[in-house]
Amino acid sequence: MRVAIAGAGLAGLSCAKYLTDLGYTPIVLESRDVLGGLVAAWQDADGDWYETGLHVFFGAYPNMLQLLKELGIEDRLQWKKHTMIFNQPEKPGTYSRFDFPNLPAPLNGIVAILRNNDMLSWREKIELAKGLVPAMLRGQKYVDSTDQYTFSQWLKQQGVSEDVQQDIFIAASKSLNFINPDEISAVVLLTALSRFLQQKDGSKMAFLDGSPTERLCQPLVDYVTEKGGEVRINAPLKEILLNEDGTVKGFLMQGLNGSADYIETADVYVSAMPVDVMKVMLPNPWKENDFFQKLEGLEGVPVINLQLWFDRKLTDIDQLLFSRSPLLSVYADMSNTCRGYANPERSMLELVLAPAKDWIAKSDEEILQVTLAELQKLFPSHFSGDNPAKLLKYHVVKTPRSVYKATPGRQQYRPSQQTPISNFFLSGSYTMQPYLGSMEGAVLSGKLTAQAIAEGRLVANSSNLQMQTPQPATNAATV
Ligand SMILES: Cc1cc2nc3c(=O)[nH]c(=O)nc-3n(C[C@H](O)[C@H](O)[C@H](O)COP(=O)(O)OP(=O)(O)OC[C@H]3O[C@@H](n4cnc5c(N)ncnc54)[C@H](O)[C@@H]3O)c2cc1C
Repeated sequence: MRVAIAGAGLAGLSCAKYLTDLGYTPIVLESRDVLGGLVAAWQDADGDWYETGLHVFFGAYPNMLQLLKELGIEDRLQWKKHTMIFNQPEKPGTYSRFDFPNLPAPLNGIVAILRNNDMLSWREKIELAKGLVPAMLRGQKYVDSTDQYTFSQWLKQQGVSEDVQQDIFIAASKSLNFINPDEISAVVLLTALSRFLQQKDGSKMAFLDGSPTERLCQPLVDYVTEKGGEVRINAPLKEILLNEDGTVKGFLMQGLNGSADYIETADVYVSAMPVDVMKVMLPNPWKENDFFQKLEGLEGVPVINLQLWFDRKLTDIDQLLFSRSPLLSVYADMSNTCRGYANPERSMLELVLAPAKDWIAKSDEEILQVTLAELQKLFPSHFSGDNPAKLLKYHVVKTPRSVYKATPGRQQYRPSQQTPISNFFLSGSYTMQPYLGSMEGAVLSGKLTAQAIAEGRLVANSSNLQMQTPQPATNAATV
């Protein structure tokens, strides 16, 4: 049975992988000349990789970890010490750490918080505990009900002061969805926090050992093609063609470089394209349907990724760093964190600029200059004096619409993988699954789509699929 999948991001590729396991023949059609969507990366003229985004994997990503195991590439994840490191803007160039001891959850998280005295006073720790602990105890149902509030509103209701928000949650909110606590839905932060507090290694982080395109997406392509499937790049879906009954007749594919458009037919069709693309691609007859109308409630959030190569080492920290800068979100010295980018002499910083709405239309040069000004605060000793660090080269990747913007009330607009159209399914981290807009969410959505397709087919052996569904209140999120 042929399944045509538009989009070779992690959701489309995961869907194809699990479909081949179930005996289907997937044909993945990717519009760009690169695999991976939001994890895509390119090699520059020097052979250096630059990426769409700085990506971190968590211990609480069961479906991603299982996928890597199934592909035989789990050793490509480089696990870091169980710690979270924040810059201290009031003391430029210094860090504050939350070190998780080797204790069962939630004790390890509680000890990590209690031992940190730079960012939280005892008064703030007590305030936070009073606000968060009942929320965690009330379980996922309660967490889900908080989607009506921004995280700032929710904190206020719990009596948690502005200072705590400033200290920790701006950094956390920006890293999870590239927006601030006064915009982000409380459900995102509470979901991530409960997962981190309930699983011993939930917040332990890993970096891939090279570019996601080469080290993560290519093995998926190899797996699918070895089993008779196909992954075609430079294959943009132009239009979804319908039968008279509203089911899909075929994918009209745009011919590139002067070649003619063509029609790709299959037994089943999947959109693993971003929600913003799916909205404009909706065939007219489907626009009347409530299920598809709800997609209008979702929209990708802008974000910018920078990679900067320097003439020397700026830090030896081998971990993700929370900048606590108004301009930047998380960053890492990838020459330390990633085997494939290792360099003992020179730093390569990868930084996420968020919120990016005021910067997305600016030139790369403007974005670079404002980022360099921030770096002077993060690494004061390296950018002052007679011999400041020199920037050797840089890349800026702007994504005007990335993962869905998780403002309050979005959960009700996230669609299931199954649609009212019998031979058409959705996949993507924006579709309903408990890991929000993350790599884990994308991989799980692909798996759920494969399962939904199999469930609709009599001969499918869906027991082949092992879903790693989270325990209640143990969901993951984007970084
Ligand atoms: C800067 C940044 C940092 C991030 N950091 C993290 C992190 O640390 N940890 C984490 O877990 N997650 C992180 N994420 C989120 C994660 O990358 C995404 O949730 C995930 O990759 C989304 O995968 P997807 O397959 O759902 O969608 P996408 O990756 O958007 O894939 C959609 C695919 O559809 C293709 N497509 C579009 N139009 C067409 C068409 N007409 N025809 C055919 N194909 C089409 C696109 O080119 C793309 O390949 C980050 C994202 C960004 C942008």
